Amino acid sequence: MSTQTSPSPSLSLGATTVDCLNVRPGIPPQELSRLQTSILNLKKQKNAVILAHNYQLPEIQDVADFVGDSLGLSYQAAKTTANTIVFCGVHFMAETAKIINPSKKVLLPDLNAECSLSDTCPAEELAEYKRRHPDVYVIAYINCSAKVKAQADIICTSGNSLKIARQAPEDRPIVFLPDENLGQWTMEKTGRQMDIWHGACHVHFIFTSESLQRLKMKHPGAPVVAHPECTRAVRLLADHVCSTEAMLKFCREHPSTTIIVATESGMMHRLRKEIPGKTFIPAPTNSCSCNDCGFMKMNTLEKVEHCLETLTPEISLDPEIQRLAFVPIQRMLEASKA
Ligand code: SF4
Repeated sequence: MSTQTSPSPSLSLGATTVDCLNVRPGIPPQELSRLQTSILNLKKQKNAVILAHNYQLPEIQDVADFVGDSLGLSYQAAKTTANTIVFCGVHFMAETAKIINPSKKVLLPDLNAECSLSDTCPAEELAEYKRRHPDVYVIAYINCSAKVKAQADIICTSGNSLKIARQAPEDRPIVFLPDENLGQWTMEKTGRQMDIWHGACHVHFIFTSESLQRLKMKHPGAPVVAHPECTRAVRLLADHVCSTEAMLKFCREHPSTTIIVATESGMMHRLRKEIPGKTFIPAPTNSCSCNDCGFMKMNTLEKVEHCLETLTPEISLDPEIQRLAFVPIQRMLEASKA
């Protein structure tokens, strides 16, 4: 069974962790829409911070204090001094912010913004798996519910899964959940043997090697950067496989001015904004030329404004689940500093 211990009263975060965050420069007032201006005013009045995932709509990213991947946003959630966190992402991300900040109000603009990947691992199924494998060490990708996190030994993100897997105990069987593609990639890169849960992100799963090959032929010489949630066939065609945060670094440093990007479409806004002068081409699926996560795109500016006006809808968690889920998150934050 997992070796859960009582959580520390607060997370210990080194100063260097802030460096992984993307602190947003303000955008000129003349470029703000009425809604964006209203959101920024409300944010100040309510002492709130807006955290937005890289897959959020461009207009939401533009009013956020921080835009990043799950790992960067977890660090920011842990460090914020604001009373209220408006989490522009999906449900499990807002839950994570609440687990880290039990005394703060955590708001999710649309409570229906779930995640199809998270849904592939119901807490009851994991409990049953653990009953059958009592010694198993559970590495849970952050894209899972609080009830699943509460049963994990350690959490990981696509940005630190290799580091987390390499530090896993040698004398225990490991299960990686819920994303099979990230799990397989982690296993390939680290050589650690793991049982892999059968779950996948519907957004990354539908990129195909055929559609990517066709695009590569149109843009010879353009490197491909892909998220590890993509299938192995797609990953094999990529010049670099990494988290969305690491994509920024790769694209900034690569000498090519045209780069093919295989991840959710929201990432294009951030790449184009932060690396002007380069062309980013979204990798196509077999059926369309873009790849949106419908859950991520449920949050809108209108909902963010409503959220700040009413301070609802709020994330609430069972205190015991919150307490248990805190432990593997804290382990991840500590382990990823090592
Ligand atoms: S992009 Fe995939 S993993 Fe991310 S929230 Fe959407 S369904 Fe979940």
